[in-house]
This record gives sequence, C-alpha cells and structure tokens, in this order.
Amino acid sequence: KPAYERRFGLTNWNSGGKVPLGLKRKGLRIVVTGGAGFVGSHLVDRLIERGDSVIVVDNFFTGRKENVMHHFGNPRFELIRHDVVEPLLLEVDQIYHLACPASPVHYKFNPVKTIKTNVVGTLNMLGLAKRIGARFLLTSTSEVYGDPLQHPQVETYWGNVNPIGVRSCYDEGKRTAETLTMDYHRGAGVEVRIARIFNTYGPRMCIDDGRVVSNFVAQALRKEPMTVYGDGKQTRSFQYVSDLVEGLMRLMEGEHVGPFNLGNPGEFTMLELAKVVQETIDPDAKIEYRPNTEDDPHKRKPDITKAKDLLGWQPKVSLQKGLPLMVSDFRKRIFGDHKEAGS
Ligand code: NAD
Ligand code: UDP
Ligand code: UDP
Repeated sequence: KPAYERRFGLTNWNSGGKVPLGLKRKGLRIVVTGGAGFVGSHLVDRLIERGDSVIVVDNFFTGRKENVMHHFGNPRFELIRHDVVEPLLLEVDQIYHLACPASPVHYKFNPVKTIKTNVVGTLNMLGLAKRIGARFLLTSTSEVYGDPLQHPQVETYWGNVNPIGVRSCYDEGKRTAETLTMDYHRGAGVEVRIARIFNTYGPRMCIDDGRVVSNFVAQALRKEPMTVYGDGKQTRSFQYVSDLVEGLMRLMEGEHVGPFNLGNPGEFTMLELAKVVQETIDPDAKIEYRPNTEDDPHKRKPDITKAKDLLGWQPKVSLQKGLPLMVSDFRKRIFGDHKEAGS
C-alpha cells in the first residue's frame, strides 16, 4: 500500500472521486502553497469548510492577506510567510502546490524568479512530500500545450512550446514541474496528482493583474475602453473558480495521477468576451485595439473527457452566470461598499 494509505487508512473514501466530498471523516492536515492567491484562497475556504486543518504557505508576491483574513483566529488555519524556493519542514497529509504567479504580467516581471519557483519550489515541495509520505498535487497549466497545433487539447498532446520566448519561464517551468512530479512518483513512490488548469476567473483576482477577464471587467467598471490585443480573434476557454476548486479536490481525493485538464470547454474569442462584459456591465463600453504580446497562443480549449470519465467532474458555471459574481466583487473593491449598494 502507498505510504499515504498506510498511515491514514484512507482506502475506503479514497476511491476515484466516487465518494461525495462532504463525506464525514477525520479532518486532514493540508498545506496549500500559494494559498493567499486567487485560486488558493477559494480552495482554502472549501477545505476549512470541510473540516480540515490548513496551513497556507505564501510569499505574498501576488497573494494578499485580505484573501484569507476571514480565517484568522480559526485554530484550524495557519498562515506562514515563506518562499517555496527555500526548503520547508512541516508535517501534513496533503500538499496542494499552487505557489507561482499565474498572470503573464506577473510571471514575466521576474522570469528567473518564476523559473526558480516552478523548478526549485516544486522540487522542495516534492522533497517534503517524500519525507513525510504526503500526497502532492501540482497545479500545472494549459500553457504546457503552448500555441497548440491540436484543438481541442487532449492530455496526450505534447504541446508546441517556444523554449526561449518571453513566456517560457512559465510554460517550460511548469513542464519541468510536471517532469519532477512524475520522477518523484516513479522514483520515490510519492503519491502525486497533476492538474492542467485552463484560464480561470472569479472574485479575488488581482484587479490590475493584466489578465483579460480582470482587465475587461475593471475597464468597463471604470468607464475606460476595453483593451483588445491583436485582432481579438484569438480564443480562450474561461472557467469559474468554484468549478476549478471542485475539480482540484476531486483529483486529490481520487486514485488517478493524471494529468487532467481542468477547464470549461466553452470557447470565446476576445471580442466575444468583450461582448459578454458589455452585456453584464455596460452596453456602451468601448473597445480599443492594442498590439498583441509575443508568442500569444491563438486558441485554447480543453478536452475534458478524461476528467469527466475518471473524476466524475465537469464545470457547472457558464461565463454568463459566473461573470456577474466576479463583477460584484470587483465593484466592491474598486468603488467601495457604498457605491456597490447604490449601483
Ligand atoms: P495567483 O498569482 O493569484 O496566486 C499565486 C500565489 O502564489 C500568490 O498568493 C503568490 O503570492 C504565491 N507565490 C508566488 N510565488 C511564490 C513563492 N516563490 N513562494 C511562495 N508563494 C509564492 O495565481 P492563481 O491564479 O491563484 O494561480 C494559482 C496556481 O494555479 C498557479 O500555480 C498557476 O500557475 C495555476 N494556474 C492558474 C490559472 C488561472 O487561470 N488562474 C491557469 C493555469 C494554472
Ligand atoms: N526538502 C524540503 N523539506 C523536506 C524535505 C526536503 O524542503 O521536508 C527539500 C530539500 O531541501 C531538497 C528538496 O526538497 O532541496 C529535495 O529533497 P530530496 O530529499 O528529494 O533530495 P535531496 O535533499 O537528496 O537532494
Ligand atoms: N488580452 C486582451 N486584452 C487584455 C489582456 C489580454 O485581449 O487586456 C488577450 C491576450 O492577448 C490573450 C488572451 O487575452 O490572447 C488571454 O490573455 P490572459 O493574459 O488573460 O491569459 P493567457 O494568455 O495566459 O491565456
């Protein structure tokens, strides 16, 4: 039996995502690296709600205390300021490894640091998992497919990635992180899980992080033109954050290593996205064209057959349903509660 099951006798509930996540059992001790960030903080909410004890490890590069402050004072919650590039000693049952900037603006800001976080940071967390027999989940990315020559992208596709471009610190960093994860699995018997996450949006995204959904929403709210890069015909598939968190938890609890695509197959051009934002916020919102960034993938859409079949997971929240939830959060943060109440 794997170390994880030997130690915790988890064979009964640990059965391929078939057991409901709410199943009553003893709370686990869980580390979430990057837990003060956008996705991490939503994951922490669900784990705490489920009865687990959570340690957030974050260096606050793109994360914020505000995202997890509502757990301060809860004895099952702990926040550690730590950079995963440095070794870490802890005793836990599971490690959700999210630490890494996700917005192109952030990860290009200091590309060498991004590589170190992905490679040395992931190595350290795998070394930790190996020492304590914890199960390890890597949040990889659809960027491992690069500018894909296969559409939609299936997990068996190896990708089309520029190794020397401005996005490589992230794409190649995550590809190496996946390699390390599989090598610790094969070589040291570490229990691992790999998620390949597609573009995700929702409350708590950094308002000015440069990603397209946060940009368009903030711009439309501020009555500024929405900046469409290039001709706006490139596509992305946008997943609401609660769907992603459900997928990550099912993957961690299930028996399959992956990699699994976790994304919403609904595919939109940037111009179509701008239209949905207009419909949600302001029909008069203007569009302004800007030159596109280097190596921008032309299209992206997950094939999620594998996650459907093996994890029993699929997204539930459409862009039209999810966007208003993000908009009300952005409204509050941009204008304060007063304006929100009056708008
Ligand atoms: P985010 O930037 O909001 O969160 C990342 C968190 O990691 C932040 O709290 C940041 O402070 C922390 N961090 C960064 N470097 C660190 C380091 N060296 N040590 C400790 N903490 C560090 O991003 P997110 O959108 O929440 O993404 C979370 C994870 O999901 C990332 O690994 C990202 O690559 C992956 N992902 C996200 C998306 C998406 O669309 N949001 C898509 C694909 C993959
Ligand atoms: N590591 C860590 N915490 C631990 C165990 C290991 O941060 O509890 C780090 C360790 O510093 C090393 C990395 O994880 O840099 C890989 O550890 P491993 O034991 O696999 O390799 P080694 O130390 O033999 O190079
Ligand atoms: N984009 C855009 N306007 C913006 C920001 C981004 O048109 O203000 C485009 C960008 O060129 C890319 C797509 O939106 O084609 C998604 O970009 P994002 O940075 O959100 O994510 P990623 O490129 O990592 O998928």
